[in-house]
Amino acid sequence: MPLTLFEKIINKEIPAEILYEDDISIVIEDINPQAPIHLLVIPKKVIPKLSDANKEDQEILGHLMLVAGKIASRLKLDDAFRLVVNNGAKAGQSVFHLHLHLLSGRALNWPPG
Ligand code: AMP
Repeated sequence: MPLTLFEKIINKEIPAEILYEDDISIVIEDINPQAPIHLLVIPKKVIPKLSDANKEDQEILGHLMLVAGKIASRLKLDDAFRLVVNNGAKAGQSVFHLHLHLLSGRALNWPPG
């Protein structure tokens, strides 16, 4: 199997702005930010998309959420950030290695009001 783009980043074969790394996950800046702060929280295990995850991935999935919260706190975003997972090409997923988008820094116009 060819390595995913994010595996190459995890392996340091492709450069990225790494904000955080531990045994289970890595956090990088998105190369094409959709908000002033746009980070990607990525598990080191390749799970192609969220709907491929199963019971054995429960700890990894929980870990990603906790890391997102920790990084948001570290960046003082903890009262204003959004997490997004695109699941499948029709939902806009382009890299088939599960990741959370962490977006912050501007008003996101959903939900309205
Ligand atoms: P998705 O479309 O949900 O699969 O998200 C993939 C994200 O990866 C997009 O927001 C891209 O801008 C981002 N991306 C693609 N290549 C890189 C890269 N080399 N470094 C950082 N982010 C990237």
